[in-house]
Amino acid sequence: MPRPGPTISLLLLLLLAGGAAKHFASAEASDEAPAPRAENLVVGSRDDSQPESMEQFLTAVTKDVDVYWTKVFEDAGLPEPRVSYMWIPAGQTAASACGDESGTFGDSAAAYCPGDDTIYISQRFATDIYDGALDQALPGSSQGYGRTVGDFAVAYIVAHEYGHQVQDELGVMDEYGQQVPLMAFELQADCYAGTWAKSAYDENRLEDGDLEEALDAALAVGDFDASNPGHHGTPEQRQEAWTRGFQTGDASACGEYLT
Ligand SMILES: [Zn+2]
Repeated sequence: MPRPGPTISLLLLLLLAGGAAKHFASAEASDEAPAPRAENLVVGSRDDSQPESMEQFLTAVTKDVDVYWTKVFEDAGLPEPRVSYMWIPAGQTAASACGDESGTFGDSAAAYCPGDDTIYISQRFATDIYDGALDQALPGSSQGYGRTVGDFAVAYIVAHEYGHQVQDELGVMDEYGQQVPLMAFELQADCYAGTWAKSAYDENRLEDGDLEEALDAALAVGDFDASNPGHHGTPEQRQEAWTRGFQTGDASACGEYLT
């Protein structure tokens, strides 16, 4: 699929902008496409202004997920979780303790780095997930499992990366890092993403299609490279892990992946 041009970028803005879309549309030429259906996660609350760009969306979802985990940690008598984030602009790189050979993350980044306690997500990558440009290009989806499109596919990825930050806060990376395969941490992060999604669902902040977007994205990012130490889990395993979190809505139910 070709890279989105200005028209697609505007559409992205409109899709994310919700109510503002009407204003934009009326200011444009009369042959504009019909306004997109509103199928967006409501970040924060319905009274809050909603994001108008991918950068704002990534920040808003991160803050939303952070509010959820702050409450979970508080209820458990734990100190407030703290994390930094970096939304790498298209075509740029960001230096990170977890970067590639050159010490940076670039346009394909979606990661949490324990070394600098920062979530890195490329704005281009997130946009390509959002508009479906990577729909069939991920390990699972290229094999016919799931797809990636829509705002809640992006939100799933943000919540997954925040799940790694939760693991870091809880010290489980240090505790279990040598004992369990990487896949266990990945599936637990998916499960954590599911518990946050359940909280948003319970608050009536999801729109039609959001759950399917997350379930399809969890399938799409699964891989079949079980002999690789970097194996993250099969599509089915990843979807099951997210679903476990969503169905229980209980972070403690995600503990079994490390045992
Ligand atoms: Zn991960």
